[in-house]
Amino acid sequence: MNLDTPVLNLMGVARQQSLKHSFCGLGPFVAKKLNKLGIKTLGDLIYHLPFRYEDFSNITPIAKLKPANTEHRRGISKSQATLGFTKKPVPNEIFCIKGIVKDIETTKAWKKQMEITTAIVEDETGAIKAVWFNQPFMEQNLHIGNEVYLAGKVKLGKTGLFLSSPIYEISKYQNSEMSSLNHTGRVVPIYQETIGLTSRWFRNFFAKNLPQIIASQKEFLPQEILKQHNLLPFSQALYQAHFPDSMEMAQKAKNRFAFEELFLIELFVLRERMKINQQKSPSIPILADEIKKFVDSLPFKLTDSQKKCAWQILKDTEKTNPMSRLLEGDVGSGKTLVALIGALNCFKNGYQSAIMAPTEILATQHFKTAAILLRKSKIKIALLTGKKDEIISQKLGYEKDGQFMPETIEISRTKVLEKTRRGEINLLIGTHALIQDKVKFGNLGLVVVDEQHRFGVAQRAKLCQKTKTFQGLIPHLLSMTATPIPRTLALTIYGDLDLSLLDQMPQGRKPIITKIFTPDQREQAYEFIKEHLKKGEQCFIICPRIEKKETPDNEPFKKNIWTNAKTVKEEYEKLSKEIFPKFKVAFIHGKLKVGEKEKIMRDFKNNKTQILVSTSVVEVGVDIPQATIILIEGAEHFGLAQIHQFRGRVGRNDIQSYCFLFADSPSKNTKARLSAIIKAKNGFELAEKDLEIRGPGSLIGDKQWGISDIAMANLNNLQLIETTRTEARALLTKDPFLRQYTILSQKIANFGEKIHLE
Ligand code: ADP
Ligand code: MG
Repeated sequence: MNLDTPVLNLMGVARQQSLKHSFCGLGPFVAKKLNKLGIKTLGDLIYHLPFRYEDFSNITPIAKLKPANTEHRRGISKSQATLGFTKKPVPNEIFCIKGIVKDIETTKAWKKQMEITTAIVEDETGAIKAVWFNQPFMEQNLHIGNEVYLAGKVKLGKTGLFLSSPIYEISKYQNSEMSSLNHTGRVVPIYQETIGLTSRWFRNFFAKNLPQIIASQKEFLPQEILKQHNLLPFSQALYQAHFPDSMEMAQKAKNRFAFEELFLIELFVLRERMKINQQKSPSIPILADEIKKFVDSLPFKLTDSQKKCAWQILKDTEKTNPMSRLLEGDVGSGKTLVALIGALNCFKNGYQSAIMAPTEILATQHFKTAAILLRKSKIKIALLTGKKDEIISQKLGYEKDGQFMPETIEISRTKVLEKTRRGEINLLIGTHALIQDKVKFGNLGLVVVDEQHRFGVAQRAKLCQKTKTFQGLIPHLLSMTATPIPRTLALTIYGDLDLSLLDQMPQGRKPIITKIFTPDQREQAYEFIKEHLKKGEQCFIICPRIEKKETPDNEPFKKNIWTNAKTVKEEYEKLSKEIFPKFKVAFIHGKLKVGEKEKIMRDFKNNKTQILVSTSVVEVGVDIPQATIILIEGAEHFGLAQIHQFRGRVGRNDIQSYCFLFADSPSKNTKARLSAIIKAKNGFELAEKDLEIRGPGSLIGDKQWGISDIAMANLNNLQLIETTRTEARALLTKDPFLRQYTILSQKIANFGEKIHLE
């Protein structure tokens, strides 16, 4: 059975293979619901693993049932504690019994407009009532004389103990060929559900179909690896994941799947890396004298980190192996300059380079920075934007009050493209249109991608295709990001990139003063801001959401807190009208059009507005020297590393800057978490904490990578990651094309299509 078969076609497959009763209930209707859970193929379906289990494997004699203890939930008062009550957790509040149905009937409680089905169930030790609310069909499910298993909470009612809406299973109907119980009397899987597809549905489906599906599948992990790491073989693991013999076996099954997927990720990224390495890039010699001249011409000294990273990049571009490097550094650590050193070395060797930025405003900023810093070299830089095209030649610039003022001339887009193609533009700066448009380079040596965590595999392939020189060479690639990436992620989803860390800030920067405010200090904070605005400084105010309607998709458990979180729209109204009526307040958020956002940012950059109320979207990397205060509302809604990045938006100047944190629910936990930000020296520490507490989504956005929950949960398991990486590397060294591992190779190919690590 092919695991790629769409669930919709499974019925057909079963018919073809005359597996008469297989996949019953799997029509288009169910397929649609499965789709809602992201299940499209048979493979997705069998890998829809339980997210937890209930242990109903112990059958309790009815006489021994005890009501669920709810005391510990309410907490225990001091007086109760002195009376000898302790906060002992109740071990397992859910009981499983086995008995005979003696009676069953449904009555209507008129007042409550509720139908109550009550069954009496008896074993050798006694009898108990089982009660279901508004499930009159229970009467059709259970009949007098049935031997049943019931699992549920025991409660104390007016007439004694009863089982409250227990899960049921009739033992008499059990087909002896199947592994007897599916819903009770064992360790029972609980699945992520959707309306109409309950855990019960999944258990029934798997009980019927799993054995034959498993029988048609082969192991694809190498035997040596299974042995060495004590992993369950595929068929056993799959069965034990859905119907474990014990909690231990469930865990062992999970271990196998975690290993399997991380191993596939590692094989995938290492193979991608191999593919890139099969291509060639121009070898660009390091012209040390030229670079020294440039560095000496700068108005500041490079940090040691900048020197180290620039050197790593230059060493890479000297090789014919294409560089795939990620330059990571906090906001303001000076990544652009490091990239410019690479670009300059390219220019001096007769190669072109390109810098891509996520927005026009950032591209424009890079263009100006490059023009100013590289003014003494003869490099020709052009800015390619949507609206107008500019080309700058440093000869056109002039010194004014000791400062170099670049002068730009505007030329048509066509002309920029033509000059780029002819190699007359040495450094082309622009948005992603650079690789999407009709841009052709003469001899591109280096591409720099700014503020993008990861230049994905697909994009890289496109870039290579577009920019191959006539000798068939592809450019070296440098990505830059301010998002700190913990080591575990660097080894997995970023595993095909080499890392350079800018872990030092330029000298002379005043550390930003960070302060956590309590709600009653709000006035004080506003007064402080007013004082600074009067001096011509500017302020960011960050809110967790745009407007009240919005709810977070991925954190339903936080909905309560969330509904109170401040919104950009409301804050903007309040701040502009009541609090800061004398100042110009603007707002920005992700739902605005690109053009609007750019204009708002430009106005703020040019000091036309003093306060910018914003969601987390404020373009990273935009340099706003007069912005000295950033006030973050609802700080508990943000990751620590994210707050750290926000904080980097101020402090671009030698004026003292401030970061004020407000929390809507200043619990002890929140305070402890936030205070880590005050102590942290760089984003990496905070990123590790975020990964641990909030998972990878909090660091690089909740992108759908196509990775399973188990793999996601293991993205902070450094030991497992290192093990799988070592094994993946060893296997590829032994057999680079996995010729002896055809099923595994096929798996990786399929996996590569499914995931999108970008
Ligand atoms: P980011 O890493 O956030 O992209 P930038 O490259 O925009 O940072 O640099 C921030 C600012 O710091 C720029 O104005 C840049 O010119 C300046 N800068 C870069 N390196 C140094 C240094 N070694 N000393 C002082 N200032 C520097
Ligand atoms: Mg930057």
